[in-house]
Amino acid sequence: MRKLIPTTALAAAALVGASLVAGGAAAQEKTFISIGTGGPTGVYFVVGNSVCRMVHKEAAEGRKKGRKHGIRCAAPSTGGSTYNIGQICAGELEFGVAQSDWQFHAVNGSSEKVTNCPGLRAVFSAHPEPFHLIAADGSGIESFTGAKGKRMNIGNPGSGQRGTTEVLMEGHGMSADDFAVATELTSSEQSQALCDGKIDAYGYTVGVPNSGVAVATDGCGAHIVNLNSDVEKKLVADNPYYAFATIPAGTYKTTAEDVTTFGVMATFVTHENVPEQVVYEVTRAVMENLDDFRSLHPAFANLDPAKMMMDGLSAPLHPGAEKYYKEKGLK
Ligand code: GLU
Repeated sequence: MRKLIPTTALAAAALVGASLVAGGAAAQEKTFISIGTGGPTGVYFVVGNSVCRMVHKEAAEGRKKGRKHGIRCAAPSTGGSTYNIGQICAGELEFGVAQSDWQFHAVNGSSEKVTNCPGLRAVFSAHPEPFHLIAADGSGIESFTGAKGKRMNIGNPGSGQRGTTEVLMEGHGMSADDFAVATELTSSEQSQALCDGKIDAYGYTVGVPNSGVAVATDGCGAHIVNLNSDVEKKLVADNPYYAFATIPAGTYKTTAEDVTTFGVMATFVTHENVPEQVVYEVTRAVMENLDDFRSLHPAFANLDPAKMMMDGLSAPLHPGAEKYYKEKGLK
């Protein structure tokens, strides 16, 4: 069951139970929303918590101006993209951050790696997420197939990186059996495991820069591998949700040159059952505070409203988001 609980309704029920009738000022109706993010060291966690910060800022401003929305927001750490989509579809989360590839597959029912969710709706896209293959210093890994016979972290189930790593494995004709060990560590565990010598490489779809990646690159000399073979070229050519991406030279201590790889967009999604007014207010809070948003993480520096309402979105826009974009003449 969906967990949008107007507290006035609960309060009313309690009051009825106690045979009390409120005679004073009506309590302001509150709505609680939860945003699914990713690991605590990732960028999704910053997206979700930034959105909550803007929603609460608008609530405070609104109280001064008599424009109340009553939304209270939390953005817990989760397993990542495919977990978030599954929970949104089940009505357990109202919003979530998800990779554009998994948004596409969820709404089209085109992959077994994510819940088929025709009711999934787009709100906006955020930052680009290049797929990183991160290899330990001295591992000799210089290509995706170079990870054969090595200890590879393929990511926790529920993460977008797990699914995209599997897509790459399939593209290269590989399976988990091709690795000496395939671990399922979370994004917040993988860099330390690599620095501790427990794994040789990991795949991670994440915004740039990322403090979790820096633990491995700057902390113990791991390097990011170029992924631009015919397999990645075909993935980009065949699928609208992939594009080539560059991790610029100088991003980390070991990126002496630009790294070429492919990537997706981080997108912000919801469900058609979430009320229009709630999605409208969340969209409005984000778009009216974009300068704040851009300042909250370097990966958000280039956020552009015209692109945010279009790039990487394959699910239909939620009517609440569409209403805001139309009002602003963006659509
Ligand atoms: N793209 C990753 C995933 O879907 C999460 C990246 C992040 O936490 O910033 O699992």
